[in-house]
Amino acid sequence: MKKDAEQSCSFCGRKKRETQILISGIEGQICDQCVAQAQQIIDEELFQKTKKFQYSLPSSVKPRDISKFLDQYVIGQDEAKKYLSVAVYNHYKRLNQRKDDDVEIEKSNILMAGQTGTGKTLLARTIAKFLNVPFAIVDATVFTEAGYVGEDVESILSRLLQVCNYDVKAAEHGIIYIDEIDKISRKSDNPSITRDVSGEGVQQAMLKLLEGSEVLVPPQGGRKHPEAKMVKVDTSNILFICGGAFEGIDKLIAQRLNQAKIGFKKGKDKDKVEKENFLKYLSPSDLRTFGLIPELIGRLPVLVHLDPLDKETLLSILTEPKNALVKQYNKIFKSEGVTLTFTDDAMDFIVTKALEFQLGARGLRSICEAIMTDAMFEVPSLTDDKEFEVTLEYCEEKINKTNIGRLKAA
Ligand code: ADP
Repeated sequence: MKKDAEQSCSFCGRKKRETQILISGIEGQICDQCVAQAQQIIDEELFQKTKKFQYSLPSSVKPRDISKFLDQYVIGQDEAKKYLSVAVYNHYKRLNQRKDDDVEIEKSNILMAGQTGTGKTLLARTIAKFLNVPFAIVDATVFTEAGYVGEDVESILSRLLQVCNYDVKAAEHGIIYIDEIDKISRKSDNPSITRDVSGEGVQQAMLKLLEGSEVLVPPQGGRKHPEAKMVKVDTSNILFICGGAFEGIDKLIAQRLNQAKIGFKKGKDKDKVEKENFLKYLSPSDLRTFGLIPELIGRLPVLVHLDPLDKETLLSILTEPKNALVKQYNKIFKSEGVTLTFTDDAMDFIVTKALEFQLGARGLRSICEAIMTDAMFEVPSLTDDKEFEVTLEYCEEKINKTNIGRLKAA
């Protein structure tokens, strides 16, 4: 055995006295610092190995397959599913296109319009899951024109880079969902009156990202690349999906339609026309009237509308999707050895409340939480009861007790 003073790390050469711990093996030694470094390398390698992103669509996949996959998670919105499936299919087909092809398939960025909580984000997220490409959600309202307080639009790409652990090639084939695109509409019809740094300014800044160009991206907080100041990302193959509620645009559409073909209806007929979901007639000109600049509209050629969720759809959302709320609660209770059931009128109550709150399916979650929290608190301590039934009376009692019951009035 060598003397301690002579022992050193076989990896970095540090003497034993320079380390905190030196571990001996059959052939040599390793110090604590090298162990830590090795662990980091293992973590990174394993991450890259296990999180393999795809760069293209397998040739066997057709638009119908994409739509079928969406059906497992998203209820209704059939029209949106169809448009999205075709757009995504074409997008990835375009990536496989040979560079010397005469007819170039143009990029098919998407704009989704629909009330809050109707499934816009869910659709985008589910498509990314199906394709196994990096996916990031950003909120358009945090951006301002470069040089002003707020984030530069380039940080949209930082999020995507972070999601795929700075694998630039993966990021360049990813999907970005830009939420609340309607909130950066032009503030004024006359752009010369004031500087519109969070409206038109941001729209202008977004153009180059959407159309496809090489952008220098600040990695921001990327511990993995402290030395890299900027990362170059080519956005030509990134699919951008923008979403927004476009509140009030239905009136603009109705106005246009009434003027163009229906004409103003009076009395009963007028009510009938107004109950329609006018978003299905959404056209680029409506977006322009709403305050999006023509250049931005031009870069979002696929317009998709979502339908408001009616009672029946909300009920299906509560029970049917792969991770439906009722299924989730069942699972939680089952893990405690308790069988959970909801009576029909209890579920009817939940969806009626959700309709009242006008938060789309998003309301379902908060209503269910308000109803189920007490039960989730008590049930794990129960010793004999192995069944728990959520009834209408139980729901009413819990909702009336919580703040959520007063939400409508507020
Ligand atoms: P938004 O349209 O505001 O982007 P989201 O997609 O974020 O709405 O939906 C909010 C929540 O409501 C989601 O987590 C999802 O569980 C549920 N949800 C909304 N619409 C649907 C739908 N059509 N099918 C199934 N779940 C839905």
